[in-house]
Amino acid sequence: MRFTPSTLLLVAAAATVRAQVQTEETQSAIEGAPPAPSPADPLTRPPLDPEAECKPYGFQPVANAIPSFPKIAANVTAILPNDAAAKAKFASFSAQIPNIAPRGTFSGDITGVQYDRAADPDCWWTSTQCVKPKLAGLKPDIVIVPEPRALGYGFDDGPFCGHNRFYNYLESKNQKATMFYIGTNVMNFPLEAQRAVADGHEICVHTWSHASLVAATNEGAFAELWYTMQAIKLVTGVTPTCWRPPKGDVDDRIRFIAQSLGLDTIMWGFDTFDWEVGMNSVTPQSVQGNYDTLVTKAGSGAFNSQGAILLMHELNNYTMQVAIDNYPKLASAFDHILPVGVAYNKTTPYAETTIKQQSFSECACFFLAFSLPSALLPFFHCLSHLLPLAGLLCSLSAPSLSLYSSPPAMPPVLSAAGWLVRGHDLLSSWLLITLCPLLSHLPRPYPVPSSICRY
Ligand SMILES: [Zn+2]
Repeated sequence: MRFTPSTLLLVAAAATVRAQVQTEETQSAIEGAPPAPSPADPLTRPPLDPEAECKPYGFQPVANAIPSFPKIAANVTAILPNDAAAKAKFASFSAQIPNIAPRGTFSGDITGVQYDRAADPDCWWTSTQCVKPKLAGLKPDIVIVPEPRALGYGFDDGPFCGHNRFYNYLESKNQKATMFYIGTNVMNFPLEAQRAVADGHEICVHTWSHASLVAATNEGAFAELWYTMQAIKLVTGVTPTCWRPPKGDVDDRIRFIAQSLGLDTIMWGFDTFDWEVGMNSVTPQSVQGNYDTLVTKAGSGAFNSQGAILLMHELNNYTMQVAIDNYPKLASAFDHILPVGVAYNKTTPYAETTIKQQSFSECACFFLAFSLPSALLPFFHCLSHLLPLAGLLCSLSAPSLSLYSSPPAMPPVLSAAGWLVRGHDLLSSWLLITLCPLLSHLPRPYPVPSSICRY
């Protein structure tokens, strides 16, 4: 593809984020960028003007790679002619793709499409909200998070050039989220994409052009996902392992292609409809009502056995502001707000397995190991040696031993024994901490306070 000035007019980043995410490579690539303000605590930074942030800038690594990518903002219908890697990858599984015909249009119009909704042979979400594939070997779509009273927190359609104020807010709350990025936006706003990774958000794919993939050919659907993965890799250095279908449009054919690319399909259980304000009678009031409904449900115990996933957008200033406005309510309604992958204890969120993220259970395990009150130490000490029942008896008898209080009047022999046992407990705690990544895969029988593990 020929490089044109319009494709080079990569749009805008905030001076602040430039300062935060520039690497040596990017610093030399940005010409004419406004001077970065001095770093400050996110709560005390001056307010940002999202409109002013959206000024064009060039980013040399993207400019250099433009010929290797599809046209910006256009639907991708085929692998680029000279892309041997993409062709080889597609060829490695294309013969196994289920024989399901494309349906509807890239914009999601399914008017006139004939489909047997009752049988739902292809588990087509747009028609039936099906999330459990009919085709053997496909993973079910992710629609909930397993941790009780937890909220899978994520935003579609980014990166948006004016997102720094919103990301500053998340940063000020030490809050991470799952960001479903559009490939074209990543190419246009590379520094904003870099910021997401630098801030610890989890990055997933949301296609190259926000196309409804059920309308695409096999090769077109592959290319929409493949080039988005390549764009994210180019700009941030990581290769996502998750995706969300634009408009939720997915069936077993598309699931198969995504899974063959190593992408888990993440859907949602609750939609704020923030993206739809101004259309189809959706108003800011109705969006607020959707947030309120979720909060009310959480308060009534609807998520006491498993958590929810909420669909929100990094689409424009309104969708981000309404997310900010509602964050305190969500934070008080749910014990935990966290990226979807963290909730699923996905310790390696990217294909680059050297990059780790702490899983929820790991965090919970660390909490246990670090926070054992001294009064409980005898119990865990005994438990580390004995069967549970004997451990309980041992624990009940432990206080009478008074080894842990180490009173000054204690005979030296007993005191020494007490310190020996205490040292042993410290060793046990250290072992527990070391083993957390392994233990985190086991069922966890204890609750974790809401102030812990807030990602
Ligand atoms: Zn979207």
